[in-house]
Amino acid sequence: MSSNFFYDSHLHLLGLGYIQSMLDLSEFESIEDIVGIRTDKAIILGRGWHQSNFKEKRYINKKDLNRITTVKPVIFTRVCGHVLVCNDKALEIAGINESTPQIEGGTFDYKTGIFTEDTLILINKIVPKPSKEDIKEYFVKGNNLLLNHNVTKCASDDFSTLNVSYELIIECLEELYSEGRMKVNLYEQVNLPSKELLLDYISKGYHIKKFNGFRMGPLKLLADGSLGGRTAYLREDYADDPGNRGIKVFKDEELEKLIYIADSNNIDVAIHAIGDGMIDIVIDSIEKSINKTKRFDHRHSIIHAQLADRLQIKRMKKLGINVIVQPIFLNSDIAIIKERLGEERAKETYLFKTMYNEGIKVGFSTDAPVEGVSPEENIYCAMNRRSIKNPELGEFLPEEKFTYEEAIECYTTSNLWLSYDE
Ligand SMILES: [Zn+2]
Repeated sequence: MSSNFFYDSHLHLLGLGYIQSMLDLSEFESIEDIVGIRTDKAIILGRGWHQSNFKEKRYINKKDLNRITTVKPVIFTRVCGHVLVCNDKALEIAGINESTPQIEGGTFDYKTGIFTEDTLILINKIVPKPSKEDIKEYFVKGNNLLLNHNVTKCASDDFSTLNVSYELIIECLEELYSEGRMKVNLYEQVNLPSKELLLDYISKGYHIKKFNGFRMGPLKLLADGSLGGRTAYLREDYADDPGNRGIKVFKDEELEKLIYIADSNNIDVAIHAIGDGMIDIVIDSIEKSINKTKRFDHRHSIIHAQLADRLQIKRMKKLGINVIVQPIFLNSDIAIIKERLGEERAKETYLFKTMYNEGIKVGFSTDAPVEGVSPEENIYCAMNRRSIKNPELGEFLPEEKFTYEEAIECYTTSNLWLSYDE
């Protein structure tokens, strides 16, 4: 790569470090091998398993994990982060038995020990809160991983990663930078998903406070889910799941209100929106807000924007809405786009080069640890529109390929502009 640095405009630095503290299950080729794991940790946490890697070709379950231990809790999260499996000891400590009722937004199965989506918290709540030194250690691990890939600047969403207060996260960052333990320049995408939290943050003046080595950035909100998980909010049903259009994390008026509070306090917004239905709602909300605040020089952005169609792209350009996209998502998604949306709708997706040609500011990012932090792999997907792990699937909308120079621009100068780091 000819650029001597990269700027990743959306990832989770704390999350990236945090998962290093868990067992890495991504390389295991059989459930039998996983069952052989032994460790002296009081609670055994693992991540990254994928059933198609196993020769058994099935999900790992509670019975398998009981073979590791029955006296300590074992919690193994799937590669996607949306599914986990745990043993009987974890269920017992969490207070879950055969008669525990289901909760909204996910499902769990007591017999198999498998939990999905919003039910993950029922199990994850038994994991002890990390200490301040733990949190600082996770940040340093994330920092080191980025530097190994020449990523010297990042915009990162860290307030909601662990179940701790946002003020503790800021305190950790202040200490880390003053101790000289962090070298990566950080622009925090402040994830404050309620009016109370956002107003608390503003009333304490954090949005205008100067810090040494890092800065507070846009309000980050997660407005819908993912295409793979069929939780991105669509205008029409999923082709492979009739009756399902995905999820809205906020009520429309709530999202609109949060965007307006930020915008009227001179804070940009960076909203996670993947489905075309959610992108409509986000564009409408930003439009309403800037019509009231008259803040036409904002640098608001939509993170992901995978299903933004050509008309939405034109509206975004008109309103000055920028995008933060992840070409590396094609690595996993090429295999599922047509299944989820059908042949026709798939043609209006991942139009990153169309956005660029339209004159929208396009920032590249990896969303690590959802994908790896490697700029090389991300740029490969931007330039080749091909999956690295499934090259046989061919190119997806090859007219959306970036040139090398354009990709470097999206990975450097565009991201600097998005974060006022010019
Ligand atoms: Zn993210």
